[in-house]
Amino acid sequence: MLSVEGLSKSFGNQHILKDINLQLNDGETTVILGPSGSGKSTLLRCLNLLETPEQGTLTIEGDRLQFGGKLSDAQVRTMRQHSAMVFQQFNLFPNYTALQNVALAPTLNGKLSKSESQQLARDLLVKVGLEHRIDSYPDLLSGGQQQRVAIARALAVSPDYLLFDEPTSALDPELEAEVIRVLIDLARENRSLVVVTHNMAFAQKVANKIIFLDEGRVAFDGPAGDFFASDQPRIRQFLNIFD
Ligand code: ADP
Ligand code: MG
Repeated sequence: MLSVEGLSKSFGNQHILKDINLQLNDGETTVILGPSGSGKSTLLRCLNLLETPEQGTLTIEGDRLQFGGKLSDAQVRTMRQHSAMVFQQFNLFPNYTALQNVALAPTLNGKLSKSESQQLARDLLVKVGLEHRIDSYPDLLSGGQQQRVAIARALAVSPDYLLFDEPTSALDPELEAEVIRVLIDLARENRSLVVVTHNMAFAQKVANKIIFLDEGRVAFDGPAGDFFASDQPRIRQFLNIFD
């Protein structure tokens, strides 16, 4: 389980996330929706401690952090082991092959030997449909292929929660589809996914839960079916943009 209580995050004097409370269940796909600037990326980054909230608590699989005081490196490391992030812009290491990109973290964190990491990386690249691209460098891969390498890289650390920040918004529709297929496969395997996206077809197909952020607050948190059928004016106004 991943839960957040009373989480608050500011940048300077701008209060971005305001008293966020959430509870996500293992094995479910949560889609975070909301207008641009509503705090979706900031929330995801707080879950992975790429940003440090000023207030609140974060609990993942029983490990709990209380924000507000100084966090030790050990606390941050422990918490980070629970999640892995996939970014909009892929963020692969350009001078490493696909295999090296995926094998790096499990080797560095000492969990696997070099040969075990490479075997795992091969298996994960096959899983995302890139068996023919294992030794390619990122700049020879399409955006869709690069993003699938990034997903394999995130899977390589065996995170409890996979966090995706608009994973397809830099891609043409055709390439978006191949990445969405991988996400649907992961959702069907009952991985715990948290996905920020504007792809409503994807959200409707796989989301168990929708969190709708509006101006840094949770304006909806509930089953996906209830969200898409909601008659709340703010939700209808948001959804009408996609019709
Ligand atoms: P979303 O992902 O929903 O579009 P963000 O979380 O990226 O929203 O941003 C929410 C608000 O926080 C925006 O007003 C943005 O300008 C601001 N913001 C995000 N990151 C930073 C930062 N590192 N420094 C200052 N302001 C930031
Ligand atoms: Mg964003």
